[in-house]
Amino acid sequence: MTAATTVGTAPSPLDERAVLDAVPGRLLIDGEWVDGERGAIEVADPSTGLVIATIADGSPADGIRALDAASRAQAGWAATAPRVRGEILRRAWELLQERREQFALLMTLEMGKPLAEARTEVDYGGEFLRWFGEEAVRVAGRYGPAPEGTGRMIVTQRPVGPAYLVTPWNFPLAMATRKIAPALAAGCTAVVKPATLTPLTTLAFAQLLLDAGLPRGVVNVVTSSASGELSDAIMHDPRLRKVSFTGSTPVGVQLLKTAAEQVLRTSMELGGNAPFLVFEDADLDTAVEGAMLAKFRNIGQACTAANRFLVHESVADEFVARVTARVAALRVGRGTSPEVQIGPLVDRRAVETTSRLVEEAVAAGAVVRTGGHAIAGDGSFFEPTVLDGVSADMSVSREEIFAPVLAVQRFATEPEAVELANATEYGLVAYAFTADAARGQRLIDAIDTGMMGLNVGVVSNAAGPFGGVKQSGLGREGGLEGIHEYLETKYTLTPMG
Ligand code: NAD
Repeated sequence: MTAATTVGTAPSPLDERAVLDAVPGRLLIDGEWVDGERGAIEVADPSTGLVIATIADGSPADGIRALDAASRAQAGWAATAPRVRGEILRRAWELLQERREQFALLMTLEMGKPLAEARTEVDYGGEFLRWFGEEAVRVAGRYGPAPEGTGRMIVTQRPVGPAYLVTPWNFPLAMATRKIAPALAAGCTAVVKPATLTPLTTLAFAQLLLDAGLPRGVVNVVTSSASGELSDAIMHDPRLRKVSFTGSTPVGVQLLKTAAEQVLRTSMELGGNAPFLVFEDADLDTAVEGAMLAKFRNIGQACTAANRFLVHESVADEFVARVTARVAALRVGRGTSPEVQIGPLVDRRAVETTSRLVEEAVAAGAVVRTGGHAIAGDGSFFEPTVLDGVSADMSVSREEIFAPVLAVQRFATEPEAVELANATEYGLVAYAFTADAARGQRLIDAIDTGMMGLNVGVVSNAAGPFGGVKQSGLGREGGLEGIHEYLETKYTLTPMG
């Protein structure tokens, strides 16, 4: 279920305060919950602006202590039978099912997404535990004769080593499980740094991993308001062997530079600017449904969110009319209310950025069909918006919007649509709607992205290799590929005897 279809969902059966109070609000180092050296961080509910929790603020020295623990645990975890590692992940998945309501409510409270979407994220995030629990026992090597016939060639895979996992605020659970599960399955230990805005879900998840039987020190969590200094300290320590980051491209570029100094293995899941193409032969009902998912899921705050709607000129008026009717009917409010489909943006800064993008587009000639403004009050809400008459040079087309703003451009021919789609430094995902199978095949080849939704508005799936090209990142998470981000290949030659 997503923003487009969440009306009538059940309210949470749980008490908000009790769920918040159950979160261990400290750093997890070597299996113990400990205070941070820097004091405390306040976590706010973006729908009210009120502080809902206070958690530990870790220092760079705390980060090094976490890495000490991860390094100590590395050899033992790598030597733990893959079946045992897989079964701990499986147990974690089972516990997540049992605690589904707690995790869903936590995410709604700290990040704002509607409860029905938070429940969907628990299911999606949990799938990485299940998938990689299954993959843990399938890490294979290769054996064969050297071409000269004089030697045997043996290729084995082994864990990279301690990994630093940095996650964003928009999918607090799924972005953590998408990194932690393959790392653990491969035999790597980890230091996890959740986003400062949404640390509670990761802290609760770390406790769940302990409850599932994960040995001490294998996963450590450091929350910090000084992300840059913490990352610098951890990434300059030679015991670290891997960094996996999901977040914005500018921070990713900074981390890549730091990673270069220690020649660390890197996985980067960065920003996007997804095109959403609607051709003249598309089934418009399917395209509108896809648009609502691709744009309004997670309040528009997804790296995979459709950023540029490129619609054939012959169907554009009809498409705009239909999406405008749907968008104008979306219900905005605190995500805990069952009828709400659009929650708040993550903070005030996000509201200011969205207002600027809409104002600049309108000043450059775009037309607001519905919405267009921030909503006054304590929460950081923005009206679900449709902008028509948008052009490729507007900032709303060039920047990642990350808000419930659907911006429509028009095109006349397929080559023009492809050129517009590719005219960005990003390359995460593209969506295309067409009834013509041959055109669909051409688009798969022609569009420069790591992923594509052909007549669908969401592609995320634990069994699929998620990731981008160009400035959207390096590496893949999920699928058969995901575990390889945490494995090194070792080749051995031995004489034929
Ligand atoms: P962000 O880059 O601001 O923060 C991501 C993480 O990096 C957080 O944990 C943050 O605390 C930390 N961080 C911030 N500054 C840092 C620094 N100087 N050094 C080290 N760590 C630092 O991103 P965000 O606002 O949390 O997330 C939104 C962005 O993430 C969007 O650009 C979105 O497209 C992207 N994203 C990408 C994917 C993907 O899979 N490609 C998935 C989700 C989000």
